[in-house]
Amino acid sequence: MTNRKIGDRIFDVAVVGGGASGAAAAYHLSSEGRTVALLERHDMNTEASGRNAGSLHGQIQHEPFLEEGDEWARAWLPALRFLADSLDIWDGLSEELGADLQVGKKGGLLIADDESQLPAIERKVAFENSVGIQSRMLSAAELKQLAPWITDDVVGGELCPIEGKANPLLVAPAFARRAAAQGAVLMPRTPVEGFREEDGVHILRTPRGEVHARQVVLAGGDGMRDLGRHFGLELPISSAAVQVSVTERIDPMVSHLVYYAGGKLTFKQAQSGTLLIGGGWPARRNAAGEWVVNPESLRANLAMATRIAPSIADVALLRTWVGIGNGTPDHSPIIGAVPGHPGVWLGFYPYMGFTASPLMGRVLNDLVQGRDPGRDLLPFAPDRF
Ligand SMILES: Cc1cc2nc3c(=O)[nH]c(=O)nc-3n(C[C@H](O)[C@H](O)[C@H](O)COP(=O)(O)OP(=O)(O)OC[C@H]3O[C@@H](n4cnc5c(N)ncnc54)[C@H](O)[C@@H]3O)c2cc1C
Repeated sequence: MTNRKIGDRIFDVAVVGGGASGAAAAYHLSSEGRTVALLERHDMNTEASGRNAGSLHGQIQHEPFLEEGDEWARAWLPALRFLADSLDIWDGLSEELGADLQVGKKGGLLIADDESQLPAIERKVAFENSVGIQSRMLSAAELKQLAPWITDDVVGGELCPIEGKANPLLVAPAFARRAAAQGAVLMPRTPVEGFREEDGVHILRTPRGEVHARQVVLAGGDGMRDLGRHFGLELPISSAAVQVSVTERIDPMVSHLVYYAGGKLTFKQAQSGTLLIGGGWPARRNAAGEWVVNPESLRANLAMATRIAPSIADVALLRTWVGIGNGTPDHSPIIGAVPGHPGVWLGFYPYMGFTASPLMGRVLNDLVQGRDPGRDLLPFAPDRF
């Protein structure tokens, strides 16, 4: 172990976490001339931000809505508005970052195949409309017209026009590349193992040496619980290993992000032509305790996909992988100052943090710069639990 300082400088900001949130924060901070160190314990973009399904979400997720109910949905609306505002940023993000992020925003379809599913969707749409999201109910005929491949069993559903997809393998690296071009120092394989403060400077301990910075942004995803504990903060962040599958390339077929009202399913067609099939199905641990693909989950996930899109039954599956998804008890993000530690900021969006990451980067930048981020962060306060 060494307490050697890496370089002889004090960075303006040390960002911990090389996923989409941290890389976006590093990009915005460095674009305003801040000196930034971006520290990542593995290689950049190797946890949730690089393993997710690439859905850009802008509706209340049907499953928690059914489980948690209307009161929860009402309280969750600020988090939904956060996603919607982030979705606006996605429109121009490829151009801004100078990289084709394979963003497509043709909207999301929530498909019902049982009349009993429709009343809940109608209530959900009303909540979404209340924060300015123009989602609406569709008849079976309208759905068939938009997506002719949908099962003949469809009885209706929802269109959420702001939703879409992007390629998760490209997004955090694009933010990080631009941050580096603006002078940020990228530090992969640099786990932060401790923090202390001396004369108003935060000192981050890593196996490579110490990083000194005037402010700290914590964007550690699944590592956030441990990071919070360094500052006496017990963050109730849950972890669940879930799996996503990809098929061979097929001709253009699915232009929307697709959900099913009867169970866990999302799927979309990537720009390359592959279908990405997920929805939060659990992985399993092998005898060595490692997370591996759960064949039962896979079977159930694929059965659901072929139920909604019968014509994909013959499409070959190429690969299924596992990633650790993270949640909070109220499904809302955790964003703001770490109490009692001036200059330490925290940014975490549960379940749908890929969608949220472009706005998360901006908000974290505003907080560090001492600016009003232009939205009420009280519902997201780190000490609300
Ligand atoms: C299988 C799966 C599918 C998903 N699908 C979607 C989807 O379709 N759409 C969507 O919007 N969201 C989806 N999500 C959620 C989304 O991927 C995450 O919410 C989002 O990527 C979080 O981004 P982040 O940058 O905050 O965290 P992460 O991507 O987890 O990045 C945090 C980084 O911090 C690093 N780190 C942690 N602790 C330390 C430390 N002490 N020192 C240094 N580095 C540290 C980690 O190694 C990690 O790389 C999915 C998640 C999973 C797992």
